[in-house]
Amino acid sequence: MTHPLRVAVLGATGRMGAQTCAALEAADGLELVARVGRGEDVGAAVRAARADVAVDFTVPAATEANVHAVLDAGAHAVVGTTGWDDDSRRRVAEHLGRLNAARGVAEPDLGVLIAPNFGLSAVLAMTFAARAARYFESAEVVELHHPDKVDAPSGTARHTAAAIARARAEAGLGPMPDATEAGIEARGADVDGVRVHAVRLRGLVAHEEILFGNVGEQLVIRQDSFDRVSFMPGVLLAVREVGSRPGLTVGLENVLDLS
Ligand code: NAP
Repeated sequence: MTHPLRVAVLGATGRMGAQTCAALEAADGLELVARVGRGEDVGAAVRAARADVAVDFTVPAATEANVHAVLDAGAHAVVGTTGWDDDSRRRVAEHLGRLNAARGVAEPDLGVLIAPNFGLSAVLAMTFAARAARYFESAEVVELHHPDKVDAPSGTARHTAAAIARARAEAGLGPMPDATEAGIEARGADVDGVRVHAVRLRGLVAHEEILFGNVGEQLVIRQDSFDRVSFMPGVLLAVREVGSRPGLTVGLENVLDLS
């Protein structure tokens, strides 16, 4: 990749998009070359700006189409928008496979990095939760956010719950104890067998608690993001790293050295 890295921001008028634009303008070796708003042709904007990387902080309904357009424009994508599922991730991975197979030897392979959370405290909480999961009979996730958030449960909470479920399956643990017969709707969302509860409260930013229980003991892992600025070191790291990670990467933990 050439230097400085040319970066476009999709959803530039939004809360995260505006913060990302400010962080890019203050960062060494990165150049903000396009602020792309709702209704603009993403592919045309990325091409016109000759962006190397596009960062997407838009809405769940738009993010997948944006990523396909960014890839067709020949740029890498860093995605913070939530709303991704197995199908949308598979479609992006297949698109990357087709494009990268067709690229010339002089062109670096394209990469997409989707991070449900760019906050270090959140990524560490998820990582620690996945490691703890095998040792507990019960596990539940509570995510707490500002009331302007449009999706629930949060992508971070889904990602955390899925990681807990994987760790439990690998350890041979069965379903968690739960005698609920009536009022199942009060038990939160079921993400791969792990219950996830979403709180929306004015004054909050982004917070997560992972509760683990055994007979006679409890472990609570909690992280709090008080300000959107806390996401920016993770966003800038992803922007710098995505070009050296061909294909699809999901989760900032794969970029941080957490071994
Ligand atoms: P926001 O303030 O509502 O901003 C959303 C942006 O998307 C605005 O610029 C909006 O444009 C634009 N937009 C709306 N509809 C669109 C469409 N159909 N096509 C293209 N653009 C559209 O939201 P936010 O708080 O910045 O959050 C954005 C996303 O990032 C959410 O999914 C949120 O959950 C996620 N998020 C992720 C992290 C992380 O660490 N991964 C952290 C915080 C938030 P207008 O201004 O014209 O409406």
